[in-house]
Amino acid sequence: MTDCLFCKMVSGEIKPDVVFEDDQVLAFRDIHPQAPMHVLIVPKRHVANLNGLDDALLGGQLLQTAAKIAEQQGYAESGYRTVFNCNDDGGQTVHHLHLHVLGGRRMTWPPG
Ligand code: AMP
Ligand code: ZN
Repeated sequence: MTDCLFCKMVSGEIKPDVVFEDDQVLAFRDIHPQAPMHVLIVPKRHVANLNGLDDALLGGQLLQTAAKIAEQQGYAESGYRTVFNCNDDGGQTVHHLHLHVLGGRRMTWPPG
């Protein structure tokens, strides 16, 4: 998708701070981190949000990548949070599916 921020990161037009990449997903640091670790994992092909996820394998790859990154960054044991925001009430601002992975501080519940 030509006018999508995260598609531009996948294509290399914009260069994020990449922490992991394979043939299906790209993971990079959030520009406004909400925790000591705040990584976004995106599918390389454009999917607007969770409502448009038509591939269970891709969903699993996003989740497994989150666990892998948490392990690599040293937060697997202390704990971390994964979040998909979907549409307006979910707080989604970038309309390319992304999984937030946050760690390094104690999270609160319920989320704001
Ligand atoms: P959401 O609100 O769930 O759609 O999350 C979008 C996330 O993208 C926010 O946490 C933003 O801080 C992050 N973001 C926006 N622009 C950039 C960028 N250029 N590089 C990295 N992260 C970004
Ligand atoms: Zn996109």
